[in-house]
Amino acid sequence: MLADNLKLVQGRIEEALQHRKEAKLTGNTVTLVGVTKNHPAEVISEALAEGIKNIGENRVQEAKAKREVLGDGGYWHLIGHLQTNKARQAVAMFDLIESVDSERLLQVIDKEAARIDKIQDVLLQLNIAHEEQKSGFSREEYLNVLPLLDNYRHVRVRGLMVIAPKAEDAEAVRQVFAAGYRCFCRLQALRPEIDCLSMGMSGDYAVAVEEGANIVRVGTALFGQRDYSLKF
Ligand SMILES: *Cc1c(COP(=O)(O)O)cnc(C)c1O
Repeated sequence: MLADNLKLVQGRIEEALQHRKEAKLTGNTVTLVGVTKNHPAEVISEALAEGIKNIGENRVQEAKAKREVLGDGGYWHLIGHLQTNKARQAVAMFDLIESVDSERLLQVIDKEAARIDKIQDVLLQLNIAHEEQKSGFSREEYLNVLPLLDNYRHVRVRGLMVIAPKAEDAEAVRQVFAAGYRCFCRLQALRPEIDCLSMGMSGDYAVAVEEGANIVRVGTALFGQRDYSLKF
């Protein structure tokens, strides 16, 4: 089941790479993050066994509970909103925090990372479509973060994360991903070490890859429907 789904997803990613209209500054390989939120810890073991090394979770508490069962292994991405009072735990657990959505959070992450002598990799979350229910930096403000980074020696901004609005037709969100890619290019022109553009979920990852994503976050298409009755 998972093996079949994985083959399908990988096939569509390869196809999308072929369909890119031009070469992208994000390279021509894509990291697949298996989003295991609201699935039990065993699903992560299965994912790791299938070779899905990148695991995405959206809540600190849930990830912590699973890690206590699983032990070490995998490369963990935080993809959900992080409250500053959970930053210490997040820094202890996650290899990449994709959902940095405020200057204040960046500051707190830096402080917590300094405490344990870690350089924390992060992405800045963009809210390209100005959706009120979503957090993230606007297209106008994300570059304002750059001057602050000289003070924050324990965070390393690796790139951007984009969540597209819900749409029946993935083509409708193509423009959002294209805008995300342009934001990436602007950022990379100022900071050449920037290398990550995380865009695309189960419904739209192929379009996201065509438009330049080099990280996709896929849950349902790999692991099936989530069980929201699970408590962690
Ligand atoms: C849940 C989630 C995903 C995965 O969603 P699917 O549609 O199940 O693939 C990806 N990114 C974020 C930020 C999420 O919260």
